[in-house]
Amino acid sequence: MADAIGVLREQLVERGLTIGRQGTQQEAVLGSMIEGVLAIDARQRIVSINRAAADLLGLDPHAVIRRPLQEVVRNPDLRRFALRAIDCREPVEDDLVLRGLRDRTIRLQGTALRDLSGDGGAMIVLNDVTTIHHFEKVRRDFVANVSHELKTPVASIKGFVETLLDGAAEDPADNERFLKIIAKQADRLASIIDDLLALSRIEQSEGTGNLPLEMVRIAEVFTAVVADCMPRAADRSIELDVACDESIQTAVNAPLLEQAVINLVDNAIKYSDPGKSVWLSASVAATGTAELACEAGCVLIVVRDEGCGIEEEHLPRLFERFYRVDKARSRKLGGTGLGLSIVKHIVQAHGGTIAVQSQPGVGSTFTIALPLES
Ligand code: ADP
Repeated sequence: MADAIGVLREQLVERGLTIGRQGTQQEAVLGSMIEGVLAIDARQRIVSINRAAADLLGLDPHAVIRRPLQEVVRNPDLRRFALRAIDCREPVEDDLVLRGLRDRTIRLQGTALRDLSGDGGAMIVLNDVTTIHHFEKVRRDFVANVSHELKTPVASIKGFVETLLDGAAEDPADNERFLKIIAKQADRLASIIDDLLALSRIEQSEGTGNLPLEMVRIAEVFTAVVADCMPRAADRSIELDVACDESIQTAVNAPLLEQAVINLVDNAIKYSDPGKSVWLSASVAATGTAELACEAGCVLIVVRDEGCGIEEEHLPRLFERFYRVDKARSRKLGGTGLGLSIVKHIVQAHGGTIAVQSQPGVGSTFTIALPLES
């Protein structure tokens, strides 16, 4: 009898240890999951909640165990979802928006639980899909914008070709005028496609982080920029003033940086009235800027104009693709609405930042800050 009790005791101790080990393992697995996991019983009392679920719902995981869900979570949609998950035979799925400083979208997946005694409950998995939703929206908007931008010149080319075919070709005056419009719209299509390809190339090297960099003197970059922009500045009687110390140099991809500065100087020329000036300068700042914390300091490239300026409400969206303050004016000047977005991606690919200050009627200043490499 004593032996039998001894064996039983040993078995119980072993089983207790195994259960303890399994509990610890389960806790470790749940705790390390990125997804939130929440288990509730048939009366919606919280049986188990991992760290991720508690963080998403703003709860203390230890304080809420065995408390009813409706007591600890204010969101009525989550409570309704929990009831559905307990009652449904099939797994259920839904999206939940958690309102806060920053709204978040949570994908909920719920499965009913049944134990041997027939008591029910549910297991709910929570995934934060806010970023995925945001990117899906950006992609949808981008496709819609590209289609719209391409549609306008194509429709115009089609219209004028049809008019020519319908007989306008016979009239030499109309003939030349319409062909010139067609050529202009074809150029517009080509610029949009060139800009889109440039953006996609830069984004690719941004993603892989393998942008080839070499030590370059900024004065050399400026010489190339001036050579490119000077004819357009002269056309509009705009003076281009350049100031750059020969000694300033850092690691950059020269052709890309040239393109970024050209885009800024071109805008400054386009959005200034004839007779005004545009200033292009480079300097070294000992410490980083507010957004760019570089220990060794940074190179600041500034493009300043005394053009039409930009209302404050537009500034936060200025670097978005196809964002224009004045659509008609931008189109008339041959803009694609992609120039500043290209600049932003080039600067980001260099690990730098871009900022803008502007006042309507006074002018605009664009500042590129690049990490200083020595
Ligand atoms: P766009 O091809 O239309 O010039 P950008 O992306 O280069 O496109 O610029 C976006 C918009 O920002 C422009 O349409 C214009 O309204 C505004 N903008 C850019 N640079 C300047 C500037 N220097 N002065 C005034 N407005 C500017």
